Amino acid sequence: MNILILGSGGREHAFALKLSESKKINQLFVAPGNAGTDSIAKNVAIDPNDFNAVKTLVLAEAIQMVIVGPEAPLVKGVHDFFLADSDLHHIPVIGPKKDGAMLEGSKDFSKIFMEKHGIPTAKYQSFTKDNLEDGKRFLETLSPPYVLKADGLAGGKGVLILNSLNEAKSELDDMLTNQKFGTASNTVVIEEFLDGIELSVFVLTDGKSYKVLPSAKDYKRIGEGDTGLNTGGMGAISPVPFASDDFLNKVEERVVKPTINGLQKDGIDYRGFIFIGLMNIKGDPFVVEYNVRMGDPETEVVLPRLESDLLELFEGVANQNLHEKSFSLKSQTATTVMLVAGGYPEAYEKGKEITGLENVTESIVFHAGTTTKNGKTITNGGRVMAVTSLGDTIEETLKISYDSINKIHFEDMNYRKDIGFDLV
Ligand code: ATP
Repeated sequence: MNILILGSGGREHAFALKLSESKKINQLFVAPGNAGTDSIAKNVAIDPNDFNAVKTLVLAEAIQMVIVGPEAPLVKGVHDFFLADSDLHHIPVIGPKKDGAMLEGSKDFSKIFMEKHGIPTAKYQSFTKDNLEDGKRFLETLSPPYVLKADGLAGGKGVLILNSLNEAKSELDDMLTNQKFGTASNTVVIEEFLDGIELSVFVLTDGKSYKVLPSAKDYKRIGEGDTGLNTGGMGAISPVPFASDDFLNKVEERVVKPTINGLQKDGIDYRGFIFIGLMNIKGDPFVVEYNVRMGDPETEVVLPRLESDLLELFEGVANQNLHEKSFSLKSQTATTVMLVAGGYPEAYEKGKEITGLENVTESIVFHAGTTTKNGKTITNGGRVMAVTSLGDTIEETLKISYDSINKIHFEDMNYRKDIGFDLV
């Protein structure tokens, strides 16, 4: 089969590598891809949000399936675009249509969905600028910290957690009156603070049945000891040691099944990944958020643990016979450490030559912000590459990843030296 992956991060490199193992693959395409995908697939320099450019590519290369990495094309309706086009409607798209993508595209929508289907989550209310004063009064009924969320997509920056009531009120004002996050904060969700340990669970569904993929924990802050600014993710571990079988059973019964059933009841034909951000509060799961695609860098620890043929699973999603597909996972632990450009997540430079990759033999290097220029691999983004290792224990895999990192060099390279240390 000819397959197209949309996106350019470590997540898409991990998809490409896993799919390249399938015997059924004829040619893999990644749009736009990075220096890593370039070595196992054909990169095509188009924007995944330019659906007409995607169509031209799909028809020119006789693509038979499209896998959507990031959320933006899904929220914008790439799957709907395919279904509505007579040349494309027979080509399966892995990723929900606009209606399902609302689970990530609107936090208000996802809270209403969870409430309606009895899925445990923080208590909340939503406000617009017309009922700003009610919002301030609602804040007074809560105890700190106060959680304010812009309803729409805000590049992972639209959530504020504040200790002071006055600050919370003034931020609410700023979000609603001054559009602090643009139109994304025309509606603001205010919710109860959930005090627990965070982890994520990933599900692949064909809309009827599902497979629960490995759980993962990511490290969002730039600094060691979880300090400093939030990033797209500095590392991840899978499985999560504090996610016991008992806890994961509760996740499946209380969250996964009601989510799949709820989508069906609401007439949403959902085909793709569901990323469930969870808080473990004294052994009970509460949903913090849904994302409608895989996580990055979580994909870089989840897919290397998948034993089954990923393309077979995607065919199951497309043909709605996922329940017939064999599904097995490696019991090994996977860890990944993200190498980032100096300065990231604030201003940083691109175009630095990356050397030493050929000396890494024990880890998998998933490229993220990289490109190729004059035969050299150079940095092309803030998060540059994820160094993943597999082993029997977290300690062992981290040692392998950090030993591999010592062989890689680019100017001002930065990474967290404490990924997973809280779990050993
Ligand atoms: P992401 O960058 O993960 O896409 P997002 O902008 O979609 O983030 P959320 O995941 O809803 O927003 O929130 C971001 C982070 O804020 C969460 O990962 C969690 O750490 C924290 N958070 C969100 N809601 C709550 C809550 N109710 N209680 C405690 N912490 C919360």
